[in-house]
Amino acid sequence: MRAVRLTTWQHEPEILDIPVPEPGPGQVLVKVAGAGVCHSDLHVMDWPEGALPYELPFTLGHETAGWIEQTGPGVEGWSAGEAVAVYGPWGCGRCHRCAQGMENYCERAPEIRAAGGGLGRDGGMAEYMLLPSPRFLVPLGDLDPRTAAPLTDAGLTSYHAIKRSLHRLTPGSTALVTGIGGLGHVAVELLKALSPATVVAVDTAPGKLDLAKRLGADHALPGDQDTASQVRDLTSGRGAELVLDFVGGRQTLALAAACASVLGEVAIVGLAGGELPVGMGRLPFECSVSVPYWGSRPELMEVIALARQRRITPHVETFPLEQALEVYRRLREGELTGRAVLLP
Ligand code: NAD
Ligand code: ZN
Ligand code: ZN
Repeated sequence: MRAVRLTTWQHEPEILDIPVPEPGPGQVLVKVAGAGVCHSDLHVMDWPEGALPYELPFTLGHETAGWIEQTGPGVEGWSAGEAVAVYGPWGCGRCHRCAQGMENYCERAPEIRAAGGGLGRDGGMAEYMLLPSPRFLVPLGDLDPRTAAPLTDAGLTSYHAIKRSLHRLTPGSTALVTGIGGLGHVAVELLKALSPATVVAVDTAPGKLDLAKRLGADHALPGDQDTASQVRDLTSGRGAELVLDFVGGRQTLALAAACASVLGEVAIVGLAGGELPVGMGRLPFECSVSVPYWGSRPELMEVIALARQRRITPHVETFPLEQALEVYRRLREGELTGRAVLLP
């Protein structure tokens, strides 16, 4: 089968032929319908050898949906042909946090040395994907698996970051979303679906701001030197109760600090490597800072429920798997809108 493999650090992946894996005891083989193209893959490719504990090579793709192809011995309760999403963070399955469904925060992550399929283990950018356990399957119901993959990361990560802060988003509050790409555009949809907050979207690319407006953002502002004062004006000086930074660079974090409200929160989701000075006088009083990572399995079920109710519909552009390298180049250049999904 064809697979998009990372074979060398700081290098583009390669599209190679590899054998279709056989599900062993307790494992599940998924026929991939679509695999999302996440900006984190660019970070993974760009970081030097040793920055991540992963061993090369492995197949990329940590945002996957498809159909059950075959279950290994001992796997019960799942049938071939069932439409499923793949829960991406693979923990040990036995620690306290895994038991709570939060495999994204597995206590034994340092020993496991891989974050999941597509992040140190073979992922979904291939015709088939082997799951080490049915624990990572979530039923999709009537959703089309070819376009559902973004729910598992773009959707889940945004949902987790928002859900933990929903109590801040009371009527009259403001949520600022910086970076309206794969994650940020779903965050705008989620905020509109889940809260009465006024949603302010910020991006440097005009096309992304158009998408934010179409998805219901109340304001869409170009990210420049005037953005912070515009946000202050829009909020009568109060600032935003929740700032979701889907870039995480020096500039956007400075914007976050300038826009957050007293008692507000800055959630840093993007991995661009910026730093946010924390201390008295650096942030508004009682402003919290969080660095949320991905989300829990029950939260993925909730995201899928919202998609099934058509309360959120990620904007998906599909490409054949063979175009993976070109799609990654376009992602890097900021030329994609919404989320790109590869179809094997
Ligand atoms: P993306 O490339 O689809 O979107 C990034 C968006 O940010 C683009 O629309 C781009 O125009 C915009 N942007 C870039 N620089 C900007 C600036 N200075 N000001 C305003 N907007 C700017 O990326 P994505 O797949 O949505 O991922 C976003 C970030 O989140 C990446 O860093 C990714 O690695 C990270 N990520 C984190 C988690 C997590 O669990 N914490 C999960 C998935 C992705
Ligand atoms: Zn991702
Ligand atoms: Zn664990």
